[in-house]
Amino acid sequence: MPPAPELATAVREGDRRALAGAITLVESARADHRDDAVALLDEILPDTGNAIRVGISGAPGAGKSTFIETLGVHLVDAGHRVAVLAVDPSSIRSGGSILGDKTRMEQLSRRPEAFIRPSPSSGTLGGVARRTREAMLVCEAAGFDVVLVETVGVGQSEVAVAGMVDLFVLLLGPGAGDELQGVKRGIVELADLLVVNKADGALADLARHTAADYAHALHLVRSDDDGTVDRVRTCSALLGEGIDELWAAVEQLVHAARVSGALAERRREQARAWMWSEVTDTMLEEVRADPEVNARIASPAAEVTGRRVSAAAAARRVLTAFRAR
Ligand code: GDP
Repeated sequence: MPPAPELATAVREGDRRALAGAITLVESARADHRDDAVALLDEILPDTGNAIRVGISGAPGAGKSTFIETLGVHLVDAGHRVAVLAVDPSSIRSGGSILGDKTRMEQLSRRPEAFIRPSPSSGTLGGVARRTREAMLVCEAAGFDVVLVETVGVGQSEVAVAGMVDLFVLLLGPGAGDELQGVKRGIVELADLLVVNKADGALADLARHTAADYAHALHLVRSDDDGTVDRVRTCSALLGEGIDELWAAVEQLVHAARVSGALAERRREQARAWMWSEVTDTMLEEVRADPEVNARIASPAAEVTGRRVSAAAAARRVLTAFRAR
């Protein structure tokens, strides 16, 4: 890997191998790679922040990859350069993933104006989300003006993704409430736009009814809404219907947030939060990996699970050992 300034230059010039290599670098768990990654991120920082960052979530089967493929091709046709990144919690445990299937988004992946990167498959959720955020910055430096961050709508990864994007889209299928669709209530509330997909053929009416139900429910929870943009919509990713309108809504919301200053404030707040999560995660890794801590505390976890020591007391012993190094 070339030194950070050269790598940054190659990324900026749109060299795709450099882009892929830079993302591999920021995803690497090796300590010496981390130093290079931080140097690279510093180097590219002035070239970041110029993309519209959109999170896209939905339960498996909701149509995320079909939707991203259709939206992505539409955006590329309109002259955008689109990067698609993924945060997939399933890939962490199993090494395989719900999202990472290679046959997905075939048309979009053939377009030179698009870049698709599957989820890193190791690390903690926090770690994977962190690296995805850094990969997003690298993509911005490479000139991508739309970054789509995909995740599965079943758990905590949405909170992490919402913490790195400007706008969060939740994709739902027609029919049934969010619990039945495997989507947690809190995630529905996290969404800036709620999109009922598959509004086509025999499902069209059902999709419209589902959207109306959600519009009603959302109306009760969102008080910050001035009502200029329909937050609940339908589309057919398969037929490409409703996609133009949806993207227009995204642009309208992002534009309004830019003008009001809310976007800049959101990004500042996100950057602060990411700094602290970086500190927390790095410290945690250091504590866990510290040989002295491990030597002094033979097996605090076993003592805790064997109910010989309380979790509180064991935690204190771990920290005391860490501080005494
Ligand atoms: P993901 O698991 O959320 O990525 O969902 P996929 O994009 O793989 O789609 C799941 C299934 O729903 C596939 O069989 C798709 O062909 C189908 N599907 C996706 N979008 C639409 C749509 O707009 N209309 C219809 N009828 N089917 C769709």
